[in-house]
Order: sequence, then C-alpha cells, then structure tokens
Amino acid sequence: MIVGGGGHGLATAYYLAREHGINRVAVLEKGWIGSGNAGRNTTIIRSNYLLPGNEQFYEHSLRLWKGLEQDLNYNTMVSQRGVLNLLHSDAQRDAFARRGNAMRLHGADAELLDADAVRARHPYFDFTSARFPIKGGLLQRRGGTARHDAVVWGYARGADRRGVDIVQNCEVTGIRIADGTVQGVETTRGYIAAAKVGLACAGNSSRVAAMAGLRLPIESHVLQAFVSEGVKPLIDGVVTFGAGYFYISQSDKGGLVFGGDIDGYNSYAQRGSMPTVDDVMEGGMALLPMLGRLRLLRQWGGIMDMSMDGSPIIDRTPVAGLYLNAGWCYGGFKATPASGWCFAYTMARDEPHPSNAAFRLDRFASGAVLDEKGVGATPNLH
Ligand SMILES: Cc1cc2nc3c(=O)[nH]c(=O)nc-3n(C[C@H](O)[C@H](O)[C@H](O)COP(=O)(O)OP(=O)(O)OC[C@H]3O[C@@H](n4cnc5c(N)ncnc54)[C@H](O)[C@@H]3O)c2cc1C
Repeated sequence: MIVGGGGHGLATAYYLAREHGINRVAVLEKGWIGSGNAGRNTTIIRSNYLLPGNEQFYEHSLRLWKGLEQDLNYNTMVSQRGVLNLLHSDAQRDAFARRGNAMRLHGADAELLDADAVRARHPYFDFTSARFPIKGGLLQRRGGTARHDAVVWGYARGADRRGVDIVQNCEVTGIRIADGTVQGVETTRGYIAAAKVGLACAGNSSRVAAMAGLRLPIESHVLQAFVSEGVKPLIDGVVTFGAGYFYISQSDKGGLVFGGDIDGYNSYAQRGSMPTVDDVMEGGMALLPMLGRLRLLRQWGGIMDMSMDGSPIIDRTPVAGLYLNAGWCYGGFKATPASGWCFAYTMARDEPHPSNAAFRLDRFASGAVLDEKGVGATPNLH
C-alpha cells in the first residue's frame, strides 16, 4: 500500500507493477491525485547536483524523464530546454566549475558559460548596471521542464492499467502496528490491512510518520510560486539568479513562471506571506527589470518537507514493513521518476537500490549526511 497520491506515490505504484510484477497495490490519497505539491510546483527538471549519492540519483531521474512519454504513452510535455544557473562572482564561478565537473564525472552534461555566452542567450538581463553583475553561468542543456499535472495523470493511468487501485478522498488517520510490524492503516473510509506500507506524503511526512511513532528530521515550510499574464516567447529555458533566490521560465501558454525562497517559518498552510512575495519580486526586478511591466496572474503555495541536510530519504524504517519516501525540500518534482523507481525497488526487495543507498533515514544520527549546497534553500539555517 502507498500513502499519498502525488507524483512519487503514483510513480512508485507504477514501477511496483511494471518492474516487479506487484499489482495488488492501493494508493490512498486524502484529496484528489496531484492536489499536493505535484500540482503546485514550477515543473523544473535537472540533475545539476554536486555530491555523490545525489548526482547519480538525479541523473537516473533525468534519464527516466527522457523516455517517460514513450514509456507511459502519455504526453507529459517533457521539454529539455536547458537550465542555466547564473554566477556573479569569481568564487561562485569556482564553485560552479567544481559542480559542473562533478556532474560530468557522473555522466551528466554541464557547460560553464562566460558573460558573453549568457548575453547571447538572454540579451534582456541586466548585466552591467545591476548590483550583482552577471559574470557567466552553469548550463545543463538536458535540464528543462515537464507538465506536472500530466506527469501525475500519466503515472496514474499507467498504474491503473496494470491493476493498481487508486483511492481518492481516503485520508490515512492511523497506522496499526503489532510486535514492531506494520499491519495496515486506519482511514476515513475504514481499516485497510497491508503487509507493506510506503509513505509518500510530501508536505505531511512528519504528521503521517508520527502515526507510527516516528519523529522525522524534517521541518515543514511554505514555498510560493507565481505566474504572470501571458506574453510572446521570451525566455527560452529555465534561469536561476545566483545573487538571491529567484528563478524563472516560460510556460507554453506564455506566462512567466517564477519563484524564490521558502517563507522561512514552519507551516502547514498552503499559502504564503507578503514579505516573501516582496523578496521574490525584488530578485526578479534585479535580474529582469522589464518584469515590472507585467501583471501577476496567479500565486499559490505548497508545503515543503525540508530535511536537515537538503537531501531526501528513501528507506526502510524501524517498523518492519513500513517504508519512507520524504524530505524532498523544494526539489522533488524532478526526482519523481527515480523516486518512484527506487522506492518501488526498496519496497519490493526490502533493500535500497544503489541509486538511493545514500538516502538513509539514520544518516542524521550516524553523521553520514548529504549536505548538498547551492541547489536551493539551506534548511538548517531556517
Ligand atoms: C511552489 C513550489 C514549486 C516547486 N518547484 C519545483 C521545481 O521546479 N522542481 C522540482 O523538482 N520540485 C519543485 N517543487 C517540489 C515538488 O513539487 C515536491 O518535492 C514533490 O512534488 C513532492 O512529491 P509528490 O509529488 O509525491 O508530493 P505531493 O503531490 O504533495 O504528494 C503527497 C500526497 O500525499 C497526500 N497525503 C498527505 N497526507 C495524507 C494522508 N494522511 N492520507 C492520504 N494522503 C495523504 C497529499 O494530499 C498529497 O497529494 C516545488 C514545490 C512547490 C510547492
């Protein structure tokens, strides 16, 4: 049984059926599939990580993204339009060069661009008068975007066709355990017995794990996203500002899609606060002054389960038969295919796959943390 009908839960069910021939699986979702972060993210996919443990996992994911549409026979609009991380100082260039080299050593692609090469791609950025002039960037051409709702529907359809039951409006309210072994779950629609239970409840991981007596090394925060009114094609690819938290891409409908830092206080409310709106807009205006001429169309928030080293957990738990997929911070969408693939493997075989071997739950106690810097908010500073 899988708790959570987001991208990760549905992908897990799909790969359990496809890779392991296990289709007596139920996915329990408290709302509707994709109503959590899967339908709220800014759709960026990439594998530009530094640390061994993370890099091969995200590269595994990017390779699954590449073949996903053929695999699911569903248009998930995977668009490898490139992800460019801008750099603004010599120290940042050194750090990005190191990250790019690490990526290439793991078989990923990375190119260090100088300021002229960035200007050729994006002539409308503020290069010179800016407080933090753009000195170049690290480009991953195979990174890009995918349509988040379609990813959910594609995995759901693929799982359903292989015999998986997807039960919506079914909230798990308790986890029944006897002699240290999971027995099943209590839900708003009654008790359901299961020999194995996998938790994939991004945004609610701590609350659901607490039902099994587990205290997770996770804090939950709001992350907001924004979409402008539609304009003609402007930004070809995804760009992140390196002197503050701001990133931007353009949707196929023409809206500029952007976001920034997490709100910085613990919350389970799926909406954000004005100071962060201000902060994100300031970052955007510093990079792209013409953004100020556009009207904002929509804004929303989702709950990020921030692990204390910025890396996820895909592992068994101290309760036999209970498995955990959590701590995606604000980068779990790109992980969806590999997360499902690895969680299915871990649940089916009761041991991790080499791709998720470093994502252990006990690493915070043992000290073998994966302290990945430069890929988002630093959770242990909040
Ligand atoms: C604004 C924003 C922007 C983001 N941008 C990006 C990005 O550009 N790139 C990227 O890689 N990542 C991004 N992310 C992060 C990414 O969306 C998440 O890490 C990822 O979606 C989490 O996995 P999921 O899809 O399974 O989560 P979810 O879709 O949240 O799935 C978890 C599900 O569990 C369900 N659930 C919870 N409790 C229970 C219960 N008790 N019983 C039953 N069901 C339950 C929830 O309803 C939910 O549907 C962003 C997130 C946000 C909010």
